[in-house]
Parts: sequence; structure tokens; C-alpha cells
Amino acid sequence: MSLFNKVTIIGIGLIGSSLARVIKRDNLAKRVSCFDAKPQYMQKALELGIVDEIHKTVANSVTNSDLIVLATPVGAYGKIIKEIAPHLKKGTIITDVGSVKTYAVKEIEANLPPQAEVFIVPGHPVAGTEKSGPEAGFDTLFEGRWYIMTPGERSSDGAVEKISKLWSYAKMRVDSMTPEHHDKVMAAVSHLPHLIAFSIVGTVADLEGYEQKEIIKYSASGFRDFTRIAGSDPTMWRDILLNNKGTILELIQRFVEDLIALERNIRWDEGDKLFELFSRTRKIRNEVVEARQDQPETEKKLLSELQRRD
Ligand code: NAP
Repeated sequence: MSLFNKVTIIGIGLIGSSLARVIKRDNLAKRVSCFDAKPQYMQKALELGIVDEIHKTVANSVTNSDLIVLATPVGAYGKIIKEIAPHLKKGTIITDVGSVKTYAVKEIEANLPPQAEVFIVPGHPVAGTEKSGPEAGFDTLFEGRWYIMTPGERSSDGAVEKISKLWSYAKMRVDSMTPEHHDKVMAAVSHLPHLIAFSIVGTVADLEGYEQKEIIKYSASGFRDFTRIAGSDPTMWRDILLNNKGTILELIQRFVEDLIALERNIRWDEGDKLFELFSRTRKIRNEVVEARQDQPETEKKLLSELQRRD
């Protein structure tokens, strides 16, 4: 039996289209509606058969929906909620997939009239790639990864259960925490690493006295792995870093201090200190591999497709 009658996905990019694929694959809704700022993305989603209806306005797209999924960059939430608020059905669940939660929750709640009889269950599927758009999505994107839910006063037990079920169908492990705690954890494991990748790729690309061709040619030595992260969507990352500012600035400070300590270790030939740090980081890498969090998405997708064909 379907979990929902009608689901509307706003923003049919990588994450929105991957979720739409799961909903279609597992028959979780009778109808899937969508709206995106890019009409060509909506058209593509229709052609791919992952949505049933596309709309000229976001307000029209949500009519009679019992689930609305915000899957745009978080900076767009305020405007979207203002536009859809007068068109929401009583009892509708609003969820999102945004990578920062304190700001996302604030934007949804502040722009929804207090009398609106809807439930809000914010969340973040911690899975993704550096690609964008509906063609980049795939239904196994979320498998084996964590879905972090940040329920609040406007969530209900029933709504929380439905959203948990939805992401369980996507084969995610579901966890729950406050938006503030989510943002602190993500700043360390995602936002700071992305920021460093953006910075390193910019630095290496701008180095004088190096041939650009050679940098690309020999990139497998390490640079390539940073370019994968630094190739992520610019709008999304601008919104994430600006909307988790306090925690990010604290972590940058700490990172700069640790980098300067490394600089000193090298300058003063403190090989034992370098060895100790690198041994510690190698141990962390082994723990990540053991926790099965290491497979790049493309590799995972390929494996999953091969397994399905078998
Ligand atoms: P994406 O592939 O770029 O898709 C987002 C889509 O939303 C784009 O087509 C974009 O159009 C559209 N959009 C922007 N503003 C809109 C508006 N006001 N109304 C309707 N559509 C609008 O991005 P994504 O990677 O799926 O990311 C979407 C959300 O998922 C973000 O909040 C991100 O934080 C979260 N997330 C991403 C990942 C990841 O790895 N990518 C992982 C977990 C969570 P334009 O391009 O024209 O702006």
C-alpha cells in the first residue's frame, strides 16, 4: 500500500530526483508532482518517468499533496514556503533534505503561519555526489547511508514515523538529533573538508610557474581526490557555508592553528611529530573503511547495478 497519496518534490536535482526514483520504484505514492526553477529539469524528470506532473508555479505543484519535500538549496526555502503556505492541505507533512538544519528549520517555521495545520519534519540524507540535476540522480544513492532527522515542536509521532519509513525504503539508517547538534557534527565531517578542498584546488590552480597541463596529467597523486569534492554545486555550498557560519569559523580557526603547527614540524625537522600524526590519521582512515563509509558513489552505483543484473 502507498505511504502517500500525492508527494510534491520542489527542486528535482540530484537529491530530489533520486528520492523520486525511490518513490516510483517502491510505489510509495499514487502521484508524484514536482516544481523546479529550471523548466528543462522538470521536463527531463517527466521524460524519465520519475514524476507524474510538472507545474508552472510552485503554488500549483503542492495542491492536495500530503507530503512536500524541499530539495532546493536552503537559501531558497523562505520564498518557497511563503508561496506555498496558502495552498497547503490540512495535515500535510513538510520535510526537506537540506545539508544545514538550524537555518533550514528557522526558514521553514518563520515563513509558515502559526495557524497552518501542517507537520514539519526536517531532515538530511547524508549521501550525495558532486553532480547536479535529474539525470545525475539514481535510486541507490542513499543505500547504507545515514538519514538524520531533526524533529521539533511542529512534528507529530505519525509524521515522524512516515518520514522514517520513507527513508527506510531508500535503505537509509535513520538517526535523530537537534538541528544545532546536526550542524556541529556536519561542520566537522563535511563542511570543513569541503571548504579545504575548495581552497586547495583554488590554490593549486593559481600557482605560478606550473604548467596547467601537468597539474591535470599528474593529478592522480592526490589533487584529483580534492577536485571531486571541490567540483560540488556552487550555489548549494555557498548556502551551506554562509548558513553554518558560527561553527565553520571556529573550525577554520582550529584548522589554521593545526596547519601552522605542521609547518613548524616540517621547518624544524620534527619527523617524529609528523610520523605520529600520520599514523593517527591512517588509523582513522582504517576505521572509516571498516564502517563501510568509504565507497565513492559512482563505485557504489556500479556495484549495485552489477548485483541487480546478477
Ligand atoms: P541540484 O542538483 O542543484 O538541484 C537543486 C535544484 O533546485 C536545481 O534544479 C535548482 O535550480 C532548483 N532550485 C533552486 N531554487 C529553486 C526554487 N526557488 N524553486 C524551485 N527550484 C529551485 O542540488 P542537490 O545536490 O540535489 O541539492 C539539493 C538540496 O539537497 C540542498 O539543500 C543540499 O543541501 C541537499 N543535499 C545535497 C547533497 C549533495 O551531495 N548534493 C547531499 C545531501 C543533501 P537552479 O540550478 O536553477 O538554481
